Amino acid sequence: MASQKKVFRSGYVSLIGRPNVGKSTLLNKLVAQKIAAMSRRPQTTRNKITGICHVPGGQIIVLDTPGIHKGATRLDKVMVKTSMRTYGDVDLILFMIDARAGFIDDDKYVLDSMQKVTVPIILVINKVDLTAKNDILGLISEMSQSGTFAEIIPISALQNDGLDLLKNITLERLPEGPEYFPRDMITDCPEEFLTSEIIREKIIILTHLEVPYSVAVMVESMHVSENGTVMIDAAIFTEKISQKKIIIGEKGSLLKKVGTQARQEIEKRLGSKVYLTLFVKVKPNWRGDETKLKEFGYIRGPY
Ligand code: GDP
Ligand code: MG
Repeated sequence: MASQKKVFRSGYVSLIGRPNVGKSTLLNKLVAQKIAAMSRRPQTTRNKITGICHVPGGQIIVLDTPGIHKGATRLDKVMVKTSMRTYGDVDLILFMIDARAGFIDDDKYVLDSMQKVTVPIILVINKVDLTAKNDILGLISEMSQSGTFAEIIPISALQNDGLDLLKNITLERLPEGPEYFPRDMITDCPEEFLTSEIIREKIIILTHLEVPYSVAVMVESMHVSENGTVMIDAAIFTEKISQKKIIIGEKGSLLKKVGTQARQEIEKRLGSKVYLTLFVKVKPNWRGDETKLKEFGYIRGPY
């Protein structure tokens, strides 16, 4: 008699889509913990972030990407390259669009970038909570005409709607494989990086437009003191003195808010007390500077 042993499936999945469709929100929901920075502003995610989604009978390793968009700075180009580089390394692509916006030109630009992709592409229509059912059905039928997608799945990442179905269908499409990561591991990103992302997210949320895109955060040191407090020094880089002033705020008030909110979230993440020190430094034109992009971790490996 053939063995009844259930197969274990595992593989890499890339989350692809234009900025702001909800990729990072989905990633955080899939791993059931926040690991990627999220905000209303496009391009909050700059790096490839790995989340590990453990499901009965398998493991889905999800790569969140910065989002594919046209942009002029070196950082923009690096972000797009980071997204597109995942095409060759994955078993499946989740291509996400926004139900309310429909399939717009910027989505077409992303889809066109996947022309050479040979792995299955699942179309994920997100934010269905914002859309009337009829419109979603119309969009599904419109999108199915091309025959490009292995599946089309409507979800609301924010409201946890349709995510079980998405996980099941994704898993079915993955090959039989090993347990790549231990059960309790949800990301392979270094703690320093996750910490700097939390700080950067607070800056994005608390400052006004224009500033966020020119801000980088680097954790310069992180260690546990004798009484168990995690001591963190982080530098915030801006491109202009005026931006530095905005981040510091009236008598340091904004930086204080950033620090408090970031500290609280880091404490929750780490489950211990945190002492966070923030510095603001000006580095003119870092987004166009190869060396700085490397230093901040936006370029890894040869490009
Ligand atoms: P990304 O740029 O694709 O990673 O998008 P984010 O995950 O950062 O999300 C962008 C914005 O969309 C945030 O304000 C999210 O709260 C919001 N968002 C994400 N998913 C949903 C959803 O299912 N429904 C609604 N209403 N908003 C969502
Ligand atoms: Mg994102």
